[in-house]
Amino acid sequence: IKKIAVMTSGGDAPGMNAAIRSVVRACAYYGANCVGIYRGYEGLIEGDFIELTARSVNNIINKGGTILKSARSKEFRTKEGRAKAFENLKENEIDGMVVIGGDGSFTGAVIFNEEYNFPIIGIPGTIDNDIFGTSHTIGYDTALNTAVEAIDKIRDTASSHNRLFFVEVMGRDAGFIALNAGVGAGAEEILIPEENLGLDRMLESLKKSRRTGKSSSIVVVAEGDKSGKNVYELAKYVEENLPEYDVRVSVLGHMQRGGSPSCFDRVLASRLGVKSVELLLDGQTNLMVGLNNNEVISTSIKEAITGGHSINQELLRVSDIMTT
Ligand code: ATP
Repeated sequence: IKKIAVMTSGGDAPGMNAAIRSVVRACAYYGANCVGIYRGYEGLIEGDFIELTARSVNNIINKGGTILKSARSKEFRTKEGRAKAFENLKENEIDGMVVIGGDGSFTGAVIFNEEYNFPIIGIPGTIDNDIFGTSHTIGYDTALNTAVEAIDKIRDTASSHNRLFFVEVMGRDAGFIALNAGVGAGAEEILIPEENLGLDRMLESLKKSRRTGKSSSIVVVAEGDKSGKNVYELAKYVEENLPEYDVRVSVLGHMQRGGSPSCFDRVLASRLGVKSVELLLDGQTNLMVGLNNNEVISTSIKEAITGGHSINQELLRVSDIMTT
């Protein structure tokens, strides 16, 4: 393998730039050429490429977002789109590709590899942490810290006015951000997609808090909470059932995707970037690099997509005990 392409695809995440930098520098170190593909699979189909040298990635390790931009491509879901993508890779003499993204991006990579036997390594870059085969995805730690910092600020105003705040954090299918940021920020209740903790339980807990002298409270809700109610409906439900509470809603939204990556995400991205290049140069393909017990490992991309994720029951228990 002499020329490796790198792209960021799907939802962006802080630390993607650090991963690009690492892939580019590892290529330079091992004497391989490196090409950046703009806008994920969309840019691959359009041939929107740029040569990257070690100096092209100066001063980006600390930057949020992705210098290569990201996109969602409908065309890559079609055979014709993928055929164009393959033609562009051949034309540019690219013989391996690193895809930084989430499960959708990896699904596309697997299909492309099956059709064209093209060597691909995946790097998990998503704030959701919902990928099998790695304890942490790039961007997750930064998103957690952003969420905790925001909830801390909401707590200040909640306690000044004796209010109950429902704070929605990102996570349509995964409750990792909600559970960890909730515990980290001392939330009263945490509602996540994986477990239906029951609305009655929440009401009971809030009632008890009032009785025991708690004047303000924070409930952290993941976007995809299993109760079936969105954050506004939840707030209304509590207001109707516990009129003694003055309820407010705060949706943190896209701020959780932005910002300078944490040191953890920068280090993780640097490690995974190097490993992805080493695997390609070693003739490996269809693997995703990840972290397990602080060691860099690789998993088949297929398994990474289908392996599912489970929430940490011990952490759920800790969260319960902390709200006593
Ligand atoms: P995040 O989880 O952060 O949103 P993601 O990588 O899962 O990131 P998606 O939008 O699901 O983001 O997928 C990114 C791109 O991968 C899609 O726009 C599409 O081009 C490609 N892709 C996803 N699924 C398929 C598929 N079944 N076949 C071909 N391409 C796909």
